[in-house]
Amino acid sequence: MRRKPIWKMNEQTITLCEAFPAVGVIGLGLIGGSLARTIRRVCPDTRIVGYNRRREVAETALADGTINDIADESLAQFSACDLIFLCVPVVTALNFMEKLKMIAKPGAILTDVGSVKGDIHSYVEAHGLEDLFIGGHPMAGSEKTGYESATDRLFENAFYIITPASNTSIMRLSAFASFIEAIGALPLIMSPEEHDRTVAAVSHLPHVISAALVNLVHDQDGDEKYMHTVAAGGFRDITRISSSSPQMWQEICLANTEEIVGMIDAYISKLIDYRLAIRNENSDELLSIFSDCKEYRDSFDTVAKGSVPKEYRIYMDLVDEAGSIASVATILAVQNISIKNIGIIHNREFEQGVLRIVFYDEQSMEDAVKTLTWRNYKIYR
Ligand code: NAD
Repeated sequence: MRRKPIWKMNEQTITLCEAFPAVGVIGLGLIGGSLARTIRRVCPDTRIVGYNRRREVAETALADGTINDIADESLAQFSACDLIFLCVPVVTALNFMEKLKMIAKPGAILTDVGSVKGDIHSYVEAHGLEDLFIGGHPMAGSEKTGYESATDRLFENAFYIITPASNTSIMRLSAFASFIEAIGALPLIMSPEEHDRTVAAVSHLPHVISAALVNLVHDQDGDEKYMHTVAAGGFRDITRISSSSPQMWQEICLANTEEIVGMIDAYISKLIDYRLAIRNENSDELLSIFSDCKEYRDSFDTVAKGSVPKEYRIYMDLVDEAGSIASVATILAVQNISIKNIGIIHNREFEQGVLRIVFYDEQSMEDAVKTLTWRNYKIYR
């Protein structure tokens, strides 16, 4: 049976569904619809307000019980929401931000799901929305679009990248990350810059390469269409992503231009090296190319979808001065508690730093919480 999602706020323990009793979803397509459906499953009593440009989509979501209310163009209905997901195309999302700033209630969290984070965070900084906005990007999706393809399991074990604004408080970040965990996803916190560079390499560049490959075969094929006929197996597998929405990929390329161009240059340089190895019939070099890539590729299977371990992490207040991380690390080492990852999250709102510690397993995390709490450190989870 699924555990009831719990969020600890100071000394008070409340369920996550109670922490966000009203949620708004703008754009009820594949991602927005799946979020609404998942929240409905995990938090059946949560009030969900939906808005979609084509009203009939929102009416379908109302009729099937996914949402409780349809908002109109004024978006006024979102003023009651504790958490608002902006799930429209990247270029459209910015048009909603200013209006939502006026409408959102104090303390509400506004988040997006866009595949590029640089532009939206620049907008947030330029318009003073840092107290309201936390960026998000679920690494889940499919070639399909629209509410009819939305499911309440889309985010299960999928990474969900969270990009806090420059002064997002640790309490809000922790509450949002816990909510993302409660809907079955694996929250990963990074800066907007780290996000855009990471997805340029593992998501955006593969789409560009896939497009080039498919279009190349199209151009090279003869009148008999042999290439089209035998384009099965591996070719179909590696070009499957080319069936995604052309508009969405056009937008992503226009929004993450610098990072994508940088990755294309790096890729071209690799292709030139490989071309040379083939041209020169350099058998050692070729074996090394394919062996290295097999070894690295095989390592992905240990973190493949469905087998990704949950992240066991805590946050704690910490005076940002030399030696403070080392003190915490020493306390844990003395107790034989292994740390997977440790680092300060820089945060303008606090004079103190916020330390994030990731453990290998739940037991280590629980032991660490006990040890550090006993030493009067303030822990958030
Ligand atoms: P989608 O086409 O399935 O859904 C978009 C929805 O937004 C549609 O219902 C559309 O009617 C609505 N919409 C468009 N403009 C609107 C407007 N001005 N006002 C109100 N509603 C409007 O697309 P999607 O796949 O759900 O993508 C939405 C966002 O999610 C994009 O920003 C995309 O970058 C991001 N994303 C997509 C995927 C994916 O694989 N599809 C994965 C992660 C993130």
